[in-house]
Amino acid sequence: MEVQICKTCIFDSSVKGVSFNSEGICNLCEQTSQLTNIYKPGKPEGLNALNSIISQIKDSGKDNKYDCIVGVSGGNDSSYLLCKAIEWGLRPLAVHYDNTWNTAISTENIRKITQYCNVDLYTYVIDNKEADDIFRSFLLAGVPEFDASTDIAFAQVLRDACAKFKIKYVLEGHSFQEEGLSPQSNNYFDGKYIEDIHSKYGRKPMKTYPNMTFYKFIKSILFHNVIFIRPLWYINYSKKEARDWLIENTGWQYYGGHHLENRSCAFLHTVYNPVKFSIDMRNLTLAALVRSGKMTQKEALELYSTPIVPQEDLVSYIKKRLELSDEEYTQLLDPKGVKRSWKDFKTYKKRFELWRPFFKIMADKNKVPMSFYLKYCFPMKTN
Ligand SMILES: [Zn+2]
Repeated sequence: MEVQICKTCIFDSSVKGVSFNSEGICNLCEQTSQLTNIYKPGKPEGLNALNSIISQIKDSGKDNKYDCIVGVSGGNDSSYLLCKAIEWGLRPLAVHYDNTWNTAISTENIRKITQYCNVDLYTYVIDNKEADDIFRSFLLAGVPEFDASTDIAFAQVLRDACAKFKIKYVLEGHSFQEEGLSPQSNNYFDGKYIEDIHSKYGRKPMKTYPNMTFYKFIKSILFHNVIFIRPLWYINYSKKEARDWLIENTGWQYYGGHHLENRSCAFLHTVYNPVKFSIDMRNLTLAALVRSGKMTQKEALELYSTPIVPQEDLVSYIKKRLELSDEEYTQLLDPKGVKRSWKDFKTYKKRFELWRPFFKIMADKNKVPMSFYLKYCFPMKTN
């Protein structure tokens, strides 16, 4: 079968979850235009909508020390968002989940940016041996979601911080213009999945890992009334301009690429997924660059065909921290070796589907992300 490439980005028909309309435009480009029409980034309507959200945030937190939380990673988008929050007159608390795999640059970035913005930082740090044990379990399980424990913990830490400091709003640094939307992949993870994989392959008890259980998730939704906002969806956001601004004004440093601020995430994107599962996620940002006219399709395809070069010493770092011999490591990374999926483990998936009507109402009220509702509450199409 001939591979079809989208006319306005670089996604092609060989990528799972990508389909085309009669004009040869892919579903992700169509979804992006829909979001552009709804959120009108940078246009008066978009900016007015954001202003009214900012007023609500200020109003909700007027008797409090903080009126919102900005989740920070030391990366480009969240660092810039924190600065914007200050510019908009908000009083954010910066919240970070430290999985103990941060690069030195990103730890420094978090320090510099919170100092520049003069905001308090709340960091939750997991026991480093426990973090390693969970990562090791995921490698031994042979599933593609190596870094899932970080994403789940970060989401839980944000919700915990909301409860602890009585804050209602969480600002997230996602940009659909710059990062693109992910095609519906076959990957999946939740708190139960982490618990099950760790109980089967882990060697240490889980004590300090802030897992998101079903109970904690529902409790947070119902009793803490947390609302998630993505302010970059309303403004004309340019990652490059944001980066230049950060470097010039705050002492923030660039760490070399999307997802590279943390070593577990860098390992997932630059080693584990490409080598073992032939998954190369660079297409997301490259497609977004072409879509927004910042790069030609030809340039993006050329870049996409270049090999992925992992940071020096990343592999030896992994082996050392996860206590893997060269032989064990090679076996675990072998594309012909054992591969499992989330379907081989216990998850909350069926329960999320059963609770679909409840989550629909919650998504409409912004109490859970719409992306959670669409992905977690419906049976997944698999091929
Ligand atoms: Zn497209």
